[in-house]
Amino acid sequence: MTAGAPVLTLRGASRVYPSGTRALDRLSLSVVAGEFLTLLGPSGCGKTTLLRLIAGLAEPSDGSVEWSPDGGARRLGFVFQEPTLMPWSRVEDNIRLPLMLAAVSPAESAGRVGEAIAHVGLEGFERAYPRELSGGMKMRVSIARALVTDPQILLMDEPFAALDEITRFKLENDLSSLAQRRRLTVLFVTHSVFESVYLGSRVVVLSPRPGRVAADLRVDGPAPRGEAFRTSAAYLDACRQVSALLALAMEGPLTLSLSPSGGEGTTPTPSPSEGRGQG
Ligand code: ADP
Repeated sequence: MTAGAPVLTLRGASRVYPSGTRALDRLSLSVVAGEFLTLLGPSGCGKTTLLRLIAGLAEPSDGSVEWSPDGGARRLGFVFQEPTLMPWSRVEDNIRLPLMLAAVSPAESAGRVGEAIAHVGLEGFERAYPRELSGGMKMRVSIARALVTDPQILLMDEPFAALDEITRFKLENDLSSLAQRRRLTVLFVTHSVFESVYLGSRVVVLSPRPGRVAADLRVDGPAPRGEAFRTSAAYLDACRQVSALLALAMEGPLTLSLSPSGGEGTTPTPSPSEGRGQG
């Protein structure tokens, strides 16, 4: 897939649960190949519902979820907040699971499992059991298991939220390097402004329920990220902008845009036929 081509496009996607809860409302979003898109929103705004629509685990009540190129089988990698490993299986067998389910030959599986283990820095732990691993290492196994199928898009649902800060920083750096090296397309859900800006080449802010795109901005910074960026003025400026956009989004339905350099001249623009304070 060419960098910059859309992998996935949601057009006016809504999701209303049988209970009548409208979790998503006419959400439109394109994810392009090779980008690291972070999705930031308050709890209950529909982030999980959105990932479920993308994963094909639920259908939109209205609108569409379109894949490019169309036709072929979609390869998705999914990483959850919990590593969800099989406790009775060794690291290499946990990572092999999706290949076994897809009936990939043992010879090809061995190569792909070995490569995924190397990518997440778990060499030497192939034959360990999950109980022998730290929380961060378990998450590395979960990421390797998602990567082993060579996904078109890697969906990550608050994967580092339960980890201590030092481990999280290390994993963020390693994930950023991995994404760069393998030219991954990532959709990463987080509650954290800091994490969204640190990891994302693009940050999409969702409104409170029903979720829709409230702001969409590019983050300029080194690729891959490194600790120098975390303490840079550019990073802190971007965090400040995203915090402001999130605060505005929490106040009411708005469509916001920022220039890549952001900062001055940032103007919240009410979307057509909408104003502040509705909803
Ligand atoms: P988030 O991941 O952002 O916390 P969710 O997508 O889990 O949000 O939920 C969005 C809204 O939809 C919430 O109000 C939640 O209670 C509601 N919701 C989620 N799943 C269901 C369901 N199966 N039936 C009814 N309401 C649901």
